[in-house]
Amino acid sequence: MTTARKASIQVTVLGSGTCVPSLARSACALLMTVGASRLLFDIGPGSMRRLLEAGVRVQEISHLCITHFHPDHTGELAPLIFANKYPDASLRRDPLIMMGGPGFLDFVTRLQGVYGHWIQLEGDLLQSVETAAEGRWDYAASGWHLETIPVRHNPESIAYRLTADGGPSVVYSGDTDYSENLVALARNADLLICEAARPDEHPVAGHLTPSMAGRMATEAGARKLMLTHFYPDCEDVDLSAQCRRTYAGPIVLAHDLMRLEVR
Ligand SMILES: [Zn+2]
Ligand SMILES: [Zn+2]
Repeated sequence: MTTARKASIQVTVLGSGTCVPSLARSACALLMTVGASRLLFDIGPGSMRRLLEAGVRVQEISHLCITHFHPDHTGELAPLIFANKYPDASLRRDPLIMMGGPGFLDFVTRLQGVYGHWIQLEGDLLQSVETAAEGRWDYAASGWHLETIPVRHNPESIAYRLTADGGPSVVYSGDTDYSENLVALARNADLLICEAARPDEHPVAGHLTPSMAGRMATEAGARKLMLTHFYPDCEDVDLSAQCRRTYAGPIVLAHDLMRLEVR
């Protein structure tokens, strides 16, 4: 007798770093594979090179989900579209669907105003969706859905929750300060991927520290917590110990090309 395999989400960290150039940490990007879909969350500088290292071609990306417009999260958006033209766009079978919060369509239009047809694709191969800051998107027959909620960083900042049908949920904070909305979005999530940009000793407005991220994971009842988006002053600090002050569950510190299967 065979039992149906429960759906899973495979998470690959493409970039665990920031705007500060680093050989070890590319800027922000996550790849999540669920069913036949490959979703990128943010696309900072260096993402496409890491994608190659993860064994994924740019034409295989089905969705690009942007949390906010800072360059360390969007720097390779234009190059990603451009790369889809080589050798020609016929390598892409399904549309690339790009989404972001309030102002995203204007952001894309302005980029296209600069780069013109170099970052446009034929027919409906490129689709841009501006999400309401808070909402839910079901993709027909894709076997998963997305939810978003505003978080405290930039006016357009949103966090995402990806849920596989009959399977797990993964939440990605993007950049944020302490956020009740993020706690609500991450309720009972199987994995919360949360920024902890600065160590507890050096908190800055608009970002989190490990103990702040841990506090939100505890309030949300998240089953596992991954910290990411590490500025250089995080490197010589015991981030897990700081996070342990406020969170008792499993803690993972992101590094580039780390893979995690969430079931
Ligand atoms: Zn930011
Ligand atoms: Zn950032």
